[in-house]
Amino acid sequence: MRLNDILDKVSEYAPNADLDVIMRAYVFSAKAHAGQVRKSGEPYLTHPLAVAQILADMKMDVDTIATGLLHDTMEDCLVTPDEIKELFGDEVSELVDGVTKIGKLEFRSKEEAQAENFRKMVLAMAKDIRVVLVKLADRLHNMRTMQHMRADRQKAISQETLDIFAPIANRLGLSQIKQELEELCFEYLHGDVYAEMVEKLATGAADRNVYIEETSKTLYEMFAEKELQCVITGRSKHLFSVYRKMLAQNLEFEQVHDLLAFRVFVNDIGECYTALGLTHARFRHFPNKLKDYIANPKSNGYQSLHTVVIGPDNQQIEIQIRTHQMHAIAEVGIAAHWRYKEGHLALSREDMNKVTKLRELFEAAREVEDPQEFLETVKVDLFATEAFAFTPRGDVKFFPLGATALDFAFSIHTEVGNKCVGVKINGRMVPLRYELKSGDTVEILTREDQRPSRDWLDIAKTGRALSKIRREIRQDERAKGREIGHNLLETEFKKFKANLNRRIKAGDIRTVCKELGYRKEDDLYLAIAQGRVTVERIARMVLPADVFEKQQEEPGAITQLFQRIRKKSESPVLINGVEDVMVTYAKCCRPVPGEPVTGYVTRGRGITIHLATCKQVMAMDSERRVSVQWHNETRGKHSGEVRIICSDQMGMLAEIGTVCKTTGINVTRMEANQIEDNKAELSLEVAIEDVRELEHFMNCIERVKGVISVDRVRAQAQV
Ligand code: MN
Repeated sequence: MRLNDILDKVSEYAPNADLDVIMRAYVFSAKAHAGQVRKSGEPYLTHPLAVAQILADMKMDVDTIATGLLHDTMEDCLVTPDEIKELFGDEVSELVDGVTKIGKLEFRSKEEAQAENFRKMVLAMAKDIRVVLVKLADRLHNMRTMQHMRADRQKAISQETLDIFAPIANRLGLSQIKQELEELCFEYLHGDVYAEMVEKLATGAADRNVYIEETSKTLYEMFAEKELQCVITGRSKHLFSVYRKMLAQNLEFEQVHDLLAFRVFVNDIGECYTALGLTHARFRHFPNKLKDYIANPKSNGYQSLHTVVIGPDNQQIEIQIRTHQMHAIAEVGIAAHWRYKEGHLALSREDMNKVTKLRELFEAAREVEDPQEFLETVKVDLFATEAFAFTPRGDVKFFPLGATALDFAFSIHTEVGNKCVGVKINGRMVPLRYELKSGDTVEILTREDQRPSRDWLDIAKTGRALSKIRREIRQDERAKGREIGHNLLETEFKKFKANLNRRIKAGDIRTVCKELGYRKEDDLYLAIAQGRVTVERIARMVLPADVFEKQQEEPGAITQLFQRIRKKSESPVLINGVEDVMVTYAKCCRPVPGEPVTGYVTRGRGITIHLATCKQVMAMDSERRVSVQWHNETRGKHSGEVRIICSDQMGMLAEIGTVCKTTGINVTRMEANQIEDNKAELSLEVAIEDVRELEHFMNCIERVKGVISVDRVRAQAQV
């Protein structure tokens, strides 16, 4: 039956192709699927045949078409990769294996698994893009023949197709497949809306067909008068695109005016612009709806002129003007770039570059290992609509809408992004967060000592820029972490009069690394900074046992002094259960004993103690956060600060002083300011043992007559 159609078609576009492979694949598939039927009751073989047919329509090579015929044999008939390899060679076997693997990926599960599976699929695409073309053909035929499935399965498969496969088809420039997939998904997902629209379209169908015919004739004659040879087609727009417009602009179906679209096919680019000029001379057009995708092709290679005019009978119509060749590319997308070279189908580097977005997608799949981050990285690039901007040399770059000047810098080169200090748009300085507009010329200014900073994460919008910035920040933080770890260890060794650098040279630290399973010394330092290994443990591994005994028995003079100092400022917190680590208290949230806290390893200042809920600490590297607890017993006084708003009257200070005395609270600093008529603000720094004592004190103050409010001072906690 249809095998001959496929063979005819292939020999038309690839006269020297080895049709034998296709025939053998057909026979093999027929045997493997013998006796199997589809839900519709048809023999199963109809499905692989239809998939092969779609691939032949895309002018694919014989190996890919054979893969279309074989694609379900491994999964459904337990054929092994080795069998296929023996009969059809390495290439076909790898393709079938790839398609089978993608088929097992689940995109409807939890978001995380979905992200990981999506990454796997992109990696498979990167290896051999034909795998995905077969998958798309497979999905298209399954969607065409879904009538016999349960409604919930229909909806689930449609949603997955709309989320994953239609955007991929679009990115590959396969506009026909993308549109058909979308129409089918629309029908299954919003059946009632779809049916209503079909009905409404049907009512005016006869009139519309007459209108299409007459308008096509009018246009044709108008062009013929100027001796412009062309082919014209007219049609109603796809329902899904009409529906999308209704949603986006909040319109009723009746309010969508440009339901009809015409296409004019001419022979060369010059004629495209001539045709556009003639059209605009005859019909009034909407300048803001004119799109020149010939001068500025879409990133998937699409080229055409689009204009919306007020046509005959005052009807709004869209007219697309393109060459026949542009049309061929628009219909089959990436497939139009395949070339037969020495009997093999190949995609030239130059043509691959035309679909640069794809290359970035592949890059991200290889570089970004965290699936969630990968999904975020590609989401914007794959699914958002685009703007374009130019480099000063006139190269064009594409961006998702909303991308900023900083994104542009990273799109040129990672180093240009990292060192970016300023941006000129059309010659004028703008901030990094400037949102790119189509047609902007962007010049990036760089400086050697510039580094990405944390606030860039809010400025950048594209996945590429975000992942590069994150990587740099992580590297910086790791470098800081290593330095901190080294310093902590050095200090510990000094306690025992040992010299860390000498020990490093002797190879002792290397031995510790080996025993604890760290690859190199830097990893060990990082582990110390992150609190994963204690300096005490390392000291005990390296230094002879007697130094620890000696220290306990009879501390040296310096150690004694050291201990005395430490006694005074004995740390009230335990870091990972360990005492005596240098700590400071964060100025942003000013925690006091008794409040839930967390530690953050800093450079040079040991560990900073923040409130567990502090917004500042939550924005910092989670790897450098360490778990800290307050000691159970109190460890001397801690400083807290309260702000009192009270009426500005005689005796106020004396009243507050009395409260301090009766509660036993020591005020270490006080500041008073008049803030408005009859009101004063007092700032008290007080020495307290814990949060309970502080709260008790504040309650007592609040009861004093004339006090309006009492608050803790937490500098930027609210920011
Ligand atoms: Mn299939």
